[in-house]
Amino acid sequence: MQIAIDGPAGAGKSTIAKKIAEAYGIIYLDTGAMYRCIAHCVLMQGDNFKESEKIIKLAEKAVITFEGDQVFCNGMDVTEAIRTPLVSLHTSDVACIKEVRELLVAQQQKIAFDQSVIMDGRDIGSVVLSQADYKFFLDADVTERALRRKKELDAKGIEKSLESIKQEIEKRDENDRNRAESPLIQVADAIVIDTTGKSIEEVCNVIKNHISGVWV
Ligand code: C5P
Repeated sequence: MQIAIDGPAGAGKSTIAKKIAEAYGIIYLDTGAMYRCIAHCVLMQGDNFKESEKIIKLAEKAVITFEGDQVFCNGMDVTEAIRTPLVSLHTSDVACIKEVRELLVAQQQKIAFDQSVIMDGRDIGSVVLSQADYKFFLDADVTERALRRKKELDAKGIEKSLESIKQEIEKRDENDRNRAESPLIQVADAIVIDTTGKSIEEVCNVIKNHISGVWV
């Protein structure tokens, strides 16, 4: 069983995907965390985001693993480090590099090869799991998405104005939608869910109602 969840930043994809994974006892893979790891490696090395060749080499060497909610890159726990506004800002710079995408997509497809999985990202329904049993596209009003991000940052003690978060989200979406390599698109066979004003439980219920039949 393969479930694909795509959508713009802050639409609730990872929160919902985790809940659905728990409900059905399947693996959840946060593909955005993998791109974030590469951006974090670049920052750690002090490299420039314009040097694609160096970034590709870093991506080739990067060993990304997950343990529950924790993310490890080259043996280092980067769970918190990959969520900083700086990493968020630069992740789309690495995500537009074809070779980086090919490397990460291959790893994602390997994970999904012989087990049931739910993945969230930007190219899951279109590329990574193009044959997924279920595809969902989560969206929400940009102000609500920015408010959700602000809550997350506030909880971590990171101060940022709602307006600047909103601008960053808009910029990120624009980059993700307009890049040449696997842009964020709403595939024709995806079920679109507008999560604006909906609780996590309500969105999960919409998804569960679409998923019927026998689990493998
Ligand atoms: O999902 P998250 O917001 O953590 O993703 C961070 C960034 O990683 C996105 O803005 C996008 O540039 C990139 N990404 C991607 N393809 C994916 C997942 C994330 O290009 N499948």
